[in-house]
Order: sequence, then structure tokens, then C-alpha cells
Amino acid sequence: MNGFTIAIDGPAAAGKGTISKAVAAHFGFAHLDTGLLYRAVAAKVLAGADAEDAARTLATDDLEDESLRTPAVAQAASQVASLPAVRSALLAFQRSFAQRAGGAVLDGRDIGTVICPEADVKLYVTASAEVRAARRYKELSDKGLEVTPQTVLADVQARDARDMGRADAPLRPADDAVQLDTSQMGIADAIAAAVSAIEGKLNQHS
Ligand code: C5P
Repeated sequence: MNGFTIAIDGPAAAGKGTISKAVAAHFGFAHLDTGLLYRAVAAKVLAGADAEDAARTLATDDLEDESLRTPAVAQAASQVASLPAVRSALLAFQRSFAQRAGGAVLDGRDIGTVICPEADVKLYVTASAEVRAARRYKELSDKGLEVTPQTVLADVQARDARDMGRADAPLRPADDAVQLDTSQMGIADAIAAAVSAIEGKLNQHS
């Protein structure tokens, strides 16, 4: 399935990571969580590096660290993500990943709008801020992190505002994206809806 690209965008904790992994496994495509790129840059900045240097010299090993999943790194990621120099330093890697033989799924904020405007399928996965915060709270507290529902909701809302309000590549659905609101859906139903939207396009792909 040469060059078949699936772009999955949406706000924090909408379910796009889980859906992207499941979709990639279902179709046998490679998957890139592009949020990890911004999180890895942010982790380096928190350790004292310059943001643009960190983005230019990012290595795949930098994406492995479990500490990238913490709320502090998430907030810092959405700050470095508003810097155009950081975004442009990460562009070529994402585009070449999208073109790999065998098909690719990329999830993030600007995949369907900026990174892969020609993607074969675009999904915009969303849910209410309250539902997303409740899911993220469970995920973080299950991992043993000390968080409260109130701070997780405030973090989600702050990130939404920053990601949607920035001048460069703001979070928004591409005009041709299929929108999937997972507020009232279990994960199995959300995956099934994504797979069926993709299958329709895949059948038309020669
Ligand atoms: O998806 P995740 O929550 O890991 O993303 C962390 C942050 O990275 C987001 O809040 C956003 O600011 C930024 N990001 C981005 N563009 C992407 C992916 C993530 O700006 N394609």
C-alpha cells in the first residue's frame, strides 16, 4: 500500500493515540505519534537545551523515554510547539514518515492541515473537555502520578487554548476530515468507526 497516508488529528486525550495504534495494527501500517516529537523537544528544553537546536538534533531514541508522558512535559510541549522554528525543524521527518512504503498513520494536531494535506484519509477525533480530562486523569493516576481531576481539566483546557489559538499550524479539523466525537463512545466503537471510515477510502485506492 505504497504511500497510503492516514492523518488523525484532535485535541489532547480525545482517544486519537489509542485509535491510531489500533488502526495501524489493523491495516499493518507504520504509526508515528507526532506529539512525542514535541514532548521530546520539550524534555530537552526543560533540561536546559535551546528549543530549535533540540528539534534539529532530535533522534529516534529520544522518543522512547517514559517521562515524556508527564503533565509537565505535555504543557511544555504545547509551548515549544508554538515556535515556528521548532515546527519547521520537525516537518521533513514527519513528511518522509508519511510517504513510507507500506502505509503510514500519523497522529497529532496539524497532520491533515499542514504536514500531510494530501493524506488519503483524515480523521478528526474529539470529545468534550470534561470527558477527555476524566480519561487523562484515570490514565495518569493509574500510573501512580499525583494528580487531581481539577488540575487535569485545567491542563487540558490550557493546552486546548494554546493549541487552537497559536498562529502557526493551529489545531483545527481539515475541511475534508471525517469527524469522530468519542464523548459517548467506548474505545471499541471508536476504533470500529475509524476502521470503517478508512476502509471506504482504501477500497477506492489503486
Ligand atoms: O499529542 P500530545 O498530547 O502528545 O501532544 C503534546 C503537544 O504537542 C500538544 O499539546 C501540541 O501542542 C503539540 N503537538 C503539535 N502538533 C502535533 C502534535 C503535537 O503541536 N502534530
